[in-house]
Amino acid sequence: MRLRHIPGAEEKIAKSPYVIQDPSSEKGHWKERFGNDFPIEAEIGMGKGKFIMELARMHPARNYVGIERYPSVLLRGLEKREQIECSNIWFLCMDAKLLPEVFEKGELTTLYLNFSDPWPKDRHAKRRLTSPEFMKIYRQVLADGGTVEFKTDNQELFRYSLESIPAAGWEILSYTFDLHHSPLALGNVMTEYEAKFAGEGKAICKLVCR
Ligand code: SAM
Repeated sequence: MRLRHIPGAEEKIAKSPYVIQDPSSEKGHWKERFGNDFPIEAEIGMGKGKFIMELARMHPARNYVGIERYPSVLLRGLEKREQIECSNIWFLCMDAKLLPEVFEKGELTTLYLNFSDPWPKDRHAKRRLTSPEFMKIYRQVLADGGTVEFKTDNQELFRYSLESIPAAGWEILSYTFDLHHSPLALGNVMTEYEAKFAGEGKAICKLVCR
């Protein structure tokens, strides 16, 4: 994602009522934060947040956490957040590497990775959000039987993930190289990037793993 720094983004995020400012203080207490026992799902790299906010509106009996590491990007999501009525979503401005500092094992049921940066160079492979390093991190916060859902237009990253995920001890439950023309399209919620790439005629890949 091309990043344009927005002056004052950090300050605005620090004052936002929709962002948790000290996420590590929530570890083990997320049910209290949401005020209910509903399952908690998170998107890593939510960008402007269309996907996760739409899920939150569609599923009032689930809770959502949108995670984005860049303040200038998250700020765009907050502008959208101000326009919707929703009590089941919070935002975090942090790197996914820190997930185990913020969530206890079992606090999350589902993780969404949508159009994650491909990091094509081999020497950057550890930064891919489907690398064995990150899959190990997800296991530390997901409930037993919890799932990761991954969508991308990048076939190379997708092929890499079809190997890296099982190699990290996960089971791939389903996958497709053409989501929008597959049974997995049922109930699919498009992300900002997905709408753009699909509009350009690109096929979207998706996998679900446990
Ligand atoms: N998910 C959105 C969508 O599909 O429209 C945005 C996709 S954008 C290409 C990827 C986003 O992931 C960027 O905003 C980037 O800053 C964020 N991101 C990448 N690595 C991350 C990490 N380790 N932790 C948190 N966010 C990350």
